[in-house]
Amino acid sequence: MIAPIPFFRFTMRDTTMREQLEHLRQQTVRAIQATEGEEGLHEIRVRVLGRKGELTGLMKGLGALSAEERPLVGQMVNSVKDELEQLLEHALVRAREAATTHRLAAERIDVTLPGRGGRRGSKHPVTLVIEEISEIFAGLGFSVAEGPEIEHDWYNFEALNFPPEHPARDMQDTFFVENELLLRTHTSPVQIRTMLKQKPPLRIIAPGTVYRCDSDATHSPMFHQIEGLMVDAKVSFADLKGILTTFTNQLFGQTTGVRLRPSFFPFTEPSAEVDIACVICGGSGCRVCKQSGWLEILGAGMVDPEVFRHVGYDPEQISGFAFGMGIERIAMLKYGISDMRLLFENDVRFLTQFQGGATT
Ligand SMILES: [Zn+2]
Repeated sequence: MIAPIPFFRFTMRDTTMREQLEHLRQQTVRAIQATEGEEGLHEIRVRVLGRKGELTGLMKGLGALSAEERPLVGQMVNSVKDELEQLLEHALVRAREAATTHRLAAERIDVTLPGRGGRRGSKHPVTLVIEEISEIFAGLGFSVAEGPEIEHDWYNFEALNFPPEHPARDMQDTFFVENELLLRTHTSPVQIRTMLKQKPPLRIIAPGTVYRCDSDATHSPMFHQIEGLMVDAKVSFADLKGILTTFTNQLFGQTTGVRLRPSFFPFTEPSAEVDIACVICGGSGCRVCKQSGWLEILGAGMVDPEVFRHVGYDPEQISGFAFGMGIERIAMLKYGISDMRLLFENDVRFLTQFQGGATT
């Protein structure tokens, strides 16, 4: 007699259970096939195979079966469980692989793409003006000299013929450091230091930072000057005017008129204020030049013999002229900047306008 195959030995209840099992198996296989992500697969595992899962729920029905049927159905449950677990495991491996592939593709770097250009900075207008002025004077045979910003009283005042009672020595104007040391109030001490080191003839310009106890809308406690000095056997006031006219014409344009007015500085005699025809209105009068048609841009004069004596030069043998100007004022006139504070705020919106150097 042929042994009956287990299927036919199931009772009605067993058959229902078998159908339910098969139904769950098919449903779960389809769900696994339709799920791509790791998370979804974990959800399926919990829903079907978890402690409170659907398959576990079915297994509870085993207890109601006869002792004979129980192992057969139990075996089926186990084989379905194994199958589903295996399918889930494979699907998980595939999902992880796909995720890795996807991540690598997303992170792929195309080395052939052009690089992102960095934003180029721009030179500060004060730097631009210093460079331009230095270049003009280099063309006239002047070299650049430098000196310390913390200066000794002797170089800053005494050697430059400032009498002890001169107002510029007042606490209001000078930042004193200690004893005889101070923050230089002008670039003129570079003249003294250069003359002490070198014998004439000499032609130097000295750009640099200077300090004064002064701060309002038109004054800053820190600002910039360029000092100029030319010493030779027969340097005259005509040479001074010639050099300065050449300079202002090159800086502001060939047609700029130049005017010298008598003035006073302790270290030059005679001294002059140098005006140029207003670069805004061309000389007809405007708000910037206060309707005068002229703009004061620098102070100059013939070096006082007393200064030469301080550095061991013989005023009978040589002569020279000196001049000095504020860089901020030149920058404001050259670039049409109306408020000096713009030069110290370092607002990038302002500074980027000088990209690649500004034009007049
Ligand atoms: Zn004007």
